[in-house]
Amino acid sequence: MAAPLRILVFGKQGSGKGTLATRLHARLLLPHISTGDMLRAAAASGSEFGQRVAAIMDAGELVSDEVMEGVVEERLNAPDAADGFILDGYPRTPGQAAFLDELLLPDGISIAIELQVADDVVRGRIVNRRVCTSCGAIYAAGRDESAETGVCAACGGTVIQRDDDTEEAVGARLATYAQLTEPLLEYYEDRGLLERISGEGDPEAIADGAVALIEARRG
Ligand code: AMP
Repeated sequence: MAAPLRILVFGKQGSGKGTLATRLHARLLLPHISTGDMLRAAAASGSEFGQRVAAIMDAGELVSDEVMEGVVEERLNAPDAADGFILDGYPRTPGQAAFLDELLLPDGISIAIELQVADDVVRGRIVNRRVCTSCGAIYAAGRDESAETGVCAACGGTVIQRDDDTEEAVGARLATYAQLTEPLLEYYEDRGLLERISGEGDPEAIADGAVALIEARRG
């Protein structure tokens, strides 16, 4: 039996992680697991857990490693993730990376991809970003009609601006990424698992490049 294909997607908020992961899901037929989407679904449910999570997310801070462990372990152990997955938004701290390693023994992860985008570019993208609350499609104000009408062109769902896509929260999130998540990239680089690609340019071409790197490693 072939080893599972486990892909990690890294990048600052607004680097296009979600867009790339969605395209990889369509091409590789592996589940796209976004911890941000899972937490937003919890927040939208209005449960006590969801309300706590919403306050943390709105401030641009990270949910604790302990809470994330429960969320991630349950999802990665689901049957649809047995052949692999595209993990978007996890791990984000050294503690989370250690937990993931333990959880994925013995095969481990297959590849970690970092989308590189300059800070001023992601700031502009985030402030203009609009998302569909039903299917997760991403639109840009000033470019896409769905961002103006509030109706998703893909599924007819409602298109909104995320509560944490504000100038203040973006600053906090970029600082957190630089401080906690960027050091993790070295951890994967040292193990020969990291590929860095530019996240600026045509999303379809970026996905082509990522698929080529994944296929090259799969052999
Ligand atoms: P994202 O959609 O990946 O930008 O995540 C949105 C927000 O969800 C983050 O700013 C955090 O507050 C929270 N979050 C998502 N993934 C994680 C994680 N792995 N650890 C802690 N908090 C997370």
